[in-house]
Amino acid sequence: MKKSLLLAPLLFLGACTNKDEAAKTDGTIVTTVGMIGDVTRQIAGDKQEVINIIGEGTDPHTYQPSKSEIDKIQKAGLVLYNGHFLEGKMGSILKSRAERDNPVSAVAEGLAEVELIGDGDHPDPHLWMDLSIWSKVAGKIGDELAAFDPDNANQYQKQCQEYQEKLNDLHTYALMVFPTIPQKQRVLVTAHDAFSYLGRAYGIEVRGIQGISTESEAGTKDINNLVSYLVENEIPAIFIESSVPEKSVKTVIEGAAEKGHTVKIGGKLFSDAMGPAGTYQGTYIGMMDHNITTIVNALGGSAPEGGFQNKLND
Ligand code: ZN
Repeated sequence: MKKSLLLAPLLFLGACTNKDEAAKTDGTIVTTVGMIGDVTRQIAGDKQEVINIIGEGTDPHTYQPSKSEIDKIQKAGLVLYNGHFLEGKMGSILKSRAERDNPVSAVAEGLAEVELIGDGDHPDPHLWMDLSIWSKVAGKIGDELAAFDPDNANQYQKQCQEYQEKLNDLHTYALMVFPTIPQKQRVLVTAHDAFSYLGRAYGIEVRGIQGISTESEAGTKDINNLVSYLVENEIPAIFIESSVPEKSVKTVIEGAAEKGHTVKIGGKLFSDAMGPAGTYQGTYIGMMDHNITTIVNALGGSAPEGGFQNKLND
C-alpha cells in the first residue's frame, strides 16, 4: 500500500513532464543525411512524418543548416543523425537539443568498436558503405522509432526486419560481384576517403585523393603519389562523387596521361548523399546498388547492368 502511495505523485509528475515536452515539439522526425532519412521512412511507413535536411548532391561534412532548418531541428519530436563528426557544422545545434532533453540520437554511434575504422576518438563516419553495418544502424533506428511511438512498436519492428532482409540480399549480391574484378584491378580510387568500409567489407583496396573529410584540399604530393600508383598498377578507372567537386579527379587523370597511362572516369558514385528524390538511386538501397554495380563493371568485373534487382536502368 505504502509503495503505491509513493508512486502516485511520481506518475503524476511524469505525465506532466511528457505533456510539457509535447508542447515544445511538433511531432515530426528530422534526419540529417538521406541515408538515415530513407531508412527511417522505410521503417516508419505512413506512421510518421520524416523531414530530411541534407539533400541530393550535398556534402554533410561542411553543411551549414539554414535558419528554417535549425528551426525544424529545434521543433522536431525526434532527431536522428549519423554522428562521428559527419555533420561537422551541426554539432552545436544537435548538442543544444540534447541539453534540453529533447530526443536526439546519433544512430551510427554505439556500434561495437571492432566495426569502426580509424582511431577511437575520430572513427571514419561513412558507415553506410558496408551494408551489414548499416543493417545494424537500421535496427537502431527501429528501436528509436519504437521508443518514440510505443503504440506502433510492433509495426516498426516488423518493417525493420523486412527492410534488414533486403539489405542482407544486397550485401550478398556485393559479396558475389566484387570478386569478379581481376585481382590486380581491385583498387577503388575516388575523390575523398568515403569508401573504406566498402573496401573492407567487399575486398577492394581504397585510395582517396582527399582525406576523410572534404574540408582539406588534396596536396600536390598526394596527387603525384597517386598518379605513380595508377600507372604502375595499370588501374583502368577512377571515380567521381556526386557531393565532391571533380577538380582533383581531373588533375589525377591528366597526370596519368602525361606518363602515358589512360585512366577513364569509371562513373559517378554516391558517397555522402543519395541520388534525386523519387528515383531508385534516391534510396539507400538504390544508391548502394548503383555504387557496387558501377565499380565492379568499370574495373573489369561483371555485374548485371540493371543491378541486383534490375532497377538501375529504370
Ligand atoms: Zn564524406
